[in-house]
Amino acid sequence: MARALAEGGAELYTVMKNRNPGIRRLSEDVLLASETDIEKVALYARMKAVELACVGPEAPLEAGLVDLLEKEGIRCAAPTKAAARLETSKEFMRSLMARHNLPGRIEHWVFSDIEEVRRFVSVYNKGVAVKPVGLTGGKGVKITGDQLLSKDDVVRYASEVLDKKMGGLSRVVIEEKAEGEEFTLQAFSDGKAVAPMPAVQDHKRAWEGDVGPNTGGMGSYSQQDHLLPFLTRAEYDEGLRIIQRTVDALAAEGTPFKGPIYGQFMLTRDGPKVIEFNARFGDPEAMNVLSLMESNFLDTCEAMAGGGLGGSRSSFSNLATVCKYVVPVGYGVSSKVGSEIAVDEKAVEAEGARLYYAAVNEKEPGKVLTTTSRALGVVGVAGDIGAAEERCENALAHLRGEFFVRHDIGRPEALRKKAEHMKRVRGA
Ligand code: AMP
Repeated sequence: MARALAEGGAELYTVMKNRNPGIRRLSEDVLLASETDIEKVALYARMKAVELACVGPEAPLEAGLVDLLEKEGIRCAAPTKAAARLETSKEFMRSLMARHNLPGRIEHWVFSDIEEVRRFVSVYNKGVAVKPVGLTGGKGVKITGDQLLSKDDVVRYASEVLDKKMGGLSRVVIEEKAEGEEFTLQAFSDGKAVAPMPAVQDHKRAWEGDVGPNTGGMGSYSQQDHLLPFLTRAEYDEGLRIIQRTVDALAAEGTPFKGPIYGQFMLTRDGPKVIEFNARFGDPEAMNVLSLMESNFLDTCEAMAGGGLGGSRSSFSNLATVCKYVVPVGYGVSSKVGSEIAVDEKAVEAEGARLYYAAVNEKEPGKVLTTTSRALGVVGVAGDIGAAEERCENALAHLRGEFFVRHDIGRPEALRKKAEHMKRVRGA
C-alpha cells in the first residue's frame, strides 16, 4: 500500500510497530508506535496535518481508529469500527448475511455453552469448521478431516475456544464445512459502489503440498485474465455480486463500508460461498493486485473516502503474479526470531520481481531481522503464471540467510492439482 500510494504521488507519514525498511524509505516521516494506540496515531496525524488515512491491519479498525480520525476531520479510506465488524466478528458477519438473505451463505451456529455444543454435535453428522467469534489472525480455525478427526475433537476444541476466550469472547462459531477450492476477491468500496480487483489464490497452510498448520498466508498467485485456473468468469461475477450485496446490507443498516473489502470464498459445486470477509486488503493478496494496478491508487483511496467511486473504474494490467513469502524458520509452529536476512535489492529488481518488506525489524541500518511473523514478500510479474513463478524464484536466489519459503506455490504441478480437485468437486 505504501509503495502504491507513493507511486500515486502521496506524501507519506507512517505509523508502524517495527522499523520496516521499505516503508521507512518511502515515508517523509515515521512514528514507531503500537498500531492500536489510536490516541497516539490520531495525535501524530494532526501534528503532521494528514489529509487522508489508509489503514493496513485490522486491529486498529477494531480499536476505532477511523471513528477517531473522522471525528477530527481526517478522511479515511478504511471502515469505521461498526463496519469493520464484518471482519472482527464472525457472528456479526454471518447474522448480517442471514438478515439480508444474501447469496453465498453457509449454515452456521453460535454457542457460549459447551453442553449445547455437545447436544449439537451428537445430532449433526456432517463436517464442520470450528472457530472463535473474534480475531485470531487466521489461525483459530479447526476443521473436520484436518485437525478434528472425531466428534470428541469438535467438542474438545469448542471447549478450548470457550475456556480460553479465544478471539476475546467466550463464544464459538460452528460452520458447515464447505468443500472446494478457495479464492480471494477484493474490491474497492466507497460505501455504495464497488470496483473489483483481480482474483487471487492464497495458500494458508505452512508447508508444501498444502499441509501443516494454518498461517496468515504463505504466498499467492493471480492469472493474466484476472480469473484463476479453476474459476470461471460467471463465478468471479457471482463473488462480486455477493460483495456488492454485502456492501448494500451494511449501508442499509447505517454502517456503510468504505475502503478495500476482501472476500474469502470457497468455490463449491453450488458456486462461491463466503468463508470470511476482511475489512482491509488481504495479506499477501494486496501484493498481487497492487503490483498490477495501472490506475492511480491515491486517487482510488480519495474516491473510497469521499464517496466518488461510482463510475470510475480501476484498471489492472493483464499480467500474472506469483508472490512467495519469505518467513522465519519454524513459522506456523514456533518462529525463529532475530535471524538476519541479507537482501540484494538491485538484483531482485533486475529479475523483474518486486520485493515488499513485511514483518521485519531493521534494528540498525541495513540489518534486516526476522520477527515472529512473515518477513518479506517477493512477487514475480509476467505474461502467465509459469513465467511469473520463474521470475519469483530467480529473485529469491538473491536472498541470503536462514528462512523458509513454500516453493510449490504457482508451480505447474500445484496448479494442475487444484484444477483436478475442482473438477472432482464439480462432478461430485
Ligand atoms: P478463516 O480464518 O475463517 O479464513 O479460516 C482459515 C481457513 O480455514 C480458511 O482459509 C479455510 O481454508 C478454512 N475454513 C474456514 N472456514 C471453513 C469452512 N466453513 N469450510 C471449509 N473450510 C473453512
